Amino acid sequence: MTDESVKVQMFRFIDVLPMLRTPDSIIRHLHEYFDEISDHFPRATRLALEVTTPGTVLGRAVATTARRNAIRMARRFIAGLEVDEVSQTLARLRRQGFAFTLDLLGEAIVSEPEADAYLQSYLDLIQGLAPVVNAWPENFQLDCDHRGPIPRVNVSVKLSALYSQFNPLDPRRTSEGVKSRLRPLLRMAQEHHAYVHFDMEHYAFKDLTLAIFQEVFSETEFREFADVGIVIQAYLPDAGRDLARLREWVEKRGTPIWIRLVKGAYWDYETVAAAARGWPVPVYTRKWQSDDNFETQTRFLMENWRWLRPAFGSHNLRSLAHATACARCMKVPDGAWEVQMLYGMGAEQAQLFAEQGRRVRIYTPFGDLIPGMAYLVRRLLENTSNDSFLRASFAENVRIEDLLMKPADRAALDPVPARPPEPLFQNEPLVDFGLEETRQAVATALEKIEDDFDRVYPLVIGGRRFDTRATIVSKNPSRKRQTVGASAKATAEHARDAVAAARTAFKTWSRTPVSYRAEYLELVARKLQDRRAELTAWIIVECGKPWVEADADVAEAIDFCRYYALQMRDLDEPIACDVPGEENRYSYRPRGVAVVIAPWNFPLAILTGMTVAALVAGNTVVMKPAEQSPVIAAKLMEMFEEAGLPDGVLNYLPGVGEEIGPVLVSHPDVDLIAFTGSQAVGLGINEAAAHTDRSQGSIRRVIAELGGKNAIIVDDDANLDEAVVGVIHSAFGYAGQKCSACSRVIVVDGAYDEFARRLQAAVASVVIGPADQPGTLVGPVIDAEARQRIEDYLSVGEDEGRLLVKGDTGKLGDQGFFVAPHVFVDVDPESRLAQEEIFGPVLVVLRARDFSHALELANGTRFALTGGVYSRSPVNLKRARQEFEVGNLYLNRSITGAMVQRHPFGGYKMSGIGSKAGGPDYLLQFLVPVNITENTLRRGFAPGEGGASGKKSG
Ligand code: NAD
Repeated sequence: MTDESVKVQMFRFIDVLPMLRTPDSIIRHLHEYFDEISDHFPRATRLALEVTTPGTVLGRAVATTARRNAIRMARRFIAGLEVDEVSQTLARLRRQGFAFTLDLLGEAIVSEPEADAYLQSYLDLIQGLAPVVNAWPENFQLDCDHRGPIPRVNVSVKLSALYSQFNPLDPRRTSEGVKSRLRPLLRMAQEHHAYVHFDMEHYAFKDLTLAIFQEVFSETEFREFADVGIVIQAYLPDAGRDLARLREWVEKRGTPIWIRLVKGAYWDYETVAAAARGWPVPVYTRKWQSDDNFETQTRFLMENWRWLRPAFGSHNLRSLAHATACARCMKVPDGAWEVQMLYGMGAEQAQLFAEQGRRVRIYTPFGDLIPGMAYLVRRLLENTSNDSFLRASFAENVRIEDLLMKPADRAALDPVPARPPEPLFQNEPLVDFGLEETRQAVATALEKIEDDFDRVYPLVIGGRRFDTRATIVSKNPSRKRQTVGASAKATAEHARDAVAAARTAFKTWSRTPVSYRAEYLELVARKLQDRRAELTAWIIVECGKPWVEADADVAEAIDFCRYYALQMRDLDEPIACDVPGEENRYSYRPRGVAVVIAPWNFPLAILTGMTVAALVAGNTVVMKPAEQSPVIAAKLMEMFEEAGLPDGVLNYLPGVGEEIGPVLVSHPDVDLIAFTGSQAVGLGINEAAAHTDRSQGSIRRVIAELGGKNAIIVDDDANLDEAVVGVIHSAFGYAGQKCSACSRVIVVDGAYDEFARRLQAAVASVVIGPADQPGTLVGPVIDAEARQRIEDYLSVGEDEGRLLVKGDTGKLGDQGFFVAPHVFVDVDPESRLAQEEIFGPVLVVLRARDFSHALELANGTRFALTGGVYSRSPVNLKRARQEFEVGNLYLNRSITGAMVQRHPFGGYKMSGIGSKAGGPDYLLQFLVPVNITENTLRRGFAPGEGGASGKKSG
């Protein structure tokens, strides 16, 4: 465990072990995980590994030993599964002088039946355990506090396991979902004189967990229930504020509660997740800061012990010694506070406190050993982490003075590092809808934009506005009777005028310095930022996009502006390749007039991306948004006008694709077409653009980003908790209307049945609703035509396969264009359902014999856009990197949500022609490269450094 590479592989091996169903697969993984680092092992182990092959007697023996050892290790940290086994463990703990609290381990809860099962386990546990435990002879130290008896049966619950759709974005629904299962649990606890503690999970869940705690224990039925408590994590700077609020609330409630103060168990996750999102890190970054905060909050708890009854969950002797000293100073009665420690860790410390007469409660996980492995890995990590007090005290012979040092005194030894300088480009962070104020901002915007629903947006050509007799009316897909605005509808004549205006403006715009052009983009980026909530609201109502995704659409538009501005500044530096007497400069020029034709599904981001790329490169643009989203496009136009973009440089031309598209695409004065949309339209454009006539000024260039039939492979060793959730988000987020959406999931045989079973329940549990409701995952589809097209596919599906899930939209169908999620199995991989892009919430599950077959199926379409693999086999992941034919491959994560610069986006085969949007080559497509060579020799004289011309050569 001191060897970092062995440690990482060992933990990964333990993590995957539960999914390895045969000895052969255990051996295969042992090799995959350890072969490369086998020289770090003792000789005997290395030899054993070398001679072990799948399918042999020795192989089976090694596999069995590996599994047995892991299970033995798990038993040290997990109390068992059945009530009998658990009660034996508890009896043993009691003989050793310890009280307990039980925590049920298991898979992540991804569906309502799983949440029901979680609740039932607790009900069974309390019911089964109470008669046994309550019959034990009394042990005053454990069974009484300073006033009298306290419950012996003590359980800890995770609220996210009580409701499968736990979502801080939707506090009301989540709270109702959780409380509906909490109440029976609390009733059962009251009836059996048991205690219930709320565990704390990720930071994102914290405020909602605290809120639900306060709500439920303010209800008349539970108001006087004193045998309850909640965790506060000292690694959060928020801890002090949260405790102060609880203190205030509990006095109003009139009945005290318990607080378990811990340092916090999700440090790695919180730091990584915050960095990935560009959010502030919610935890202290240095260990001593958490230790210090723990002591601060200890004092607060000891001062308020009558209301907030203190339990200290720690193995750190300094922290606990400090608590003991505080209790003495403040004269807190002995039984009024307790120490809590983890089962299987630091037994000597626990013993020490128990012998001193303190009540020590052991946090005891129970459940199936195999799914409990994930917990085991966490505990092992904790045991071996460099910051661990236990490791320091046992393994490394740290001096006692250092071990017991006051945490704040470490500040000088281990200062908080200064923030690193910001990189030139950073993705615009998504807003955190876990915060009340951000939710409020969108809710207010949704109300406010209603005042504008009767606006009609004119065309803008050459800086002039044009109304048209016919208009395009935009409807809210969630509420089909609601009009959100209308735009003028361009005719072929307008299209020609717009190209002419763009041509005229090109002369000056193409010569405008790049720095100026880039500044326009940055100005628009700021405007997008300023109007963030409002634009999010427009996307929600015009395109039926749920909150988080609508916000991401705006963020991506901001990214495109900033990223391309930066890229173009770089490209503006000519590349020199001089030789004596000859100066060479390689540089870029704009192409000319660009037509931008955009889809509705990223109504702001994609439109902005294509438009600003063309503009910053020096082209002028005719911008044709999709018929379904002219209002959002009008908002973008508005921002460019406010930024002072010269007339004609950008022209806003909403219209029907089939009517004005062909005019634009085959116009002789158009040099470039940037299109994103369906394959059929894209191929038509490519063909039309290729047709040249003599009046043309250039050969038209087409950039076309088209559709996909994207697959996720689930390997037989995959983490199914993650795979089920990842597939659902990829397939059904925004009702499957993303080009990157997953529409085929290919499951390797060994995992198929379990995956299908869990997927079925999980899909049936997702929240379907209007996009304006913050908790919605599956909103409406864009319009009646789309709904009809998808429904036609559903009928095809019923012929071609078997329905695994047939979702239900209830009454939503009357209100908007809703299609519930559908999952088909037993589908022929060559059938229409498995081959054609449906662009809706329809998923096909295919069974693969093995990983090679899975790859073959995944590659068996004409598309190559996005794809994903859930696997814990290094060899299979490597194969996927090489063989999976997609433009964007995602390993062990969902396959949507590409971010500018981090995940440049775009496909190949029949999924598109062009370099990736948001990537380093994208702008090149909007430019022509030019090389200029000058002979600098004049009458045999070559100017050198500081020579006659003053130019640098060479
Ligand atoms: P669509 O092809 O129907 O429409 C796209 C645009 O093309 C619209 O502005 C439309 O008005 C216009 N158009 C229609 N007929 C035209 C014609 N004959 N000539 C010129 N323009 C015409 O696509 P959509 O329904 O708006 O968008 C969904 C499609 O877009 C899906 O296939 C999806 O996969 C694809 N898409 C791809 C990407 C990507 O980056 N690869 C991104 C988003 C969407």
